[in-house]
Amino acid sequence: MASVSDILRENLQRVRERIGRAAEQAERLPSEVSLVAVTKYVGAELTAALFSAGAEDLGESRPQQLWDKATGSQLTKARWHLIGHLQRNKVRRTLPLVSLLHGVDSERLLSTINDEAAATGATADVLLEVNTSGDAAKHGLDEDGLSTLLEAAPSFQTVKILGLMTMAAREGGPDVARKNFSALREIRDRAMNLAPDCVSLSELSMGMSGDFEQAIQEGATLVRIGSLLWQGVDRSA
Ligand SMILES: *Cc1c(COP(=O)(O)O)cnc(C)c1O
Repeated sequence: MASVSDILRENLQRVRERIGRAAEQAERLPSEVSLVAVTKYVGAELTAALFSAGAEDLGESRPQQLWDKATGSQLTKARWHLIGHLQRNKVRRTLPLVSLLHGVDSERLLSTINDEAAATGATADVLLEVNTSGDAAKHGLDEDGLSTLLEAAPSFQTVKILGLMTMAAREGGPDVARKNFSALREIRDRAMNLAPDCVSLSELSMGMSGDFEQAIQEGATLVRIGSLLWQGVDRSA
């Protein structure tokens, strides 16, 4: 029987091959697309096994779970991404642990991040979350909200806005997802014309296990993949 680390290595390799092929089909370089391996389905031990298997960028959607894992002895060297919503009262504890916050969707939150980062002398890298699916249950700015936030960006000197993030609609499969992803790219392109110089927007975080190839076609630079990496693994371990 294959060991867990064999399975994880194989799953990683398969996902990376698919990322590479999708990039080539889109006439992009595979190196333009980074894999954020989503570990929210498993405990610290399996997370550490995936890190050892070669996944260096790890994503959690809940701050508390990220804290628990990122401060554990085996995982302090991973590059952590918070891919879910962040409450303002959790910013202080989260900031020192993460390399990128994907889900920033209000000026109040951005302001808190800015103040906390300033207090520690660091800068915080963030992506702004945009709601492209029209799903009211989802977090995220609409295009007007994004424009307003970008106008305010120069007052947040210790935050670097590197790009945008979106979640595709839950229903509709890869075809609908692709429309959401192209919408994000178009919103980004329009926003770039208005954005102050301190904002770059070169990163697009979009695409999960069921639709990352469509996301890469539409310009994703970060894909957030969980389920595919844990296939064949007993997640309760
Ligand atoms: C869970 C999650 C993912 C990964 O989803 P999979 O379908 O398991 O690949 C990606 N992004 C966010 C924000 C998530 O919460």
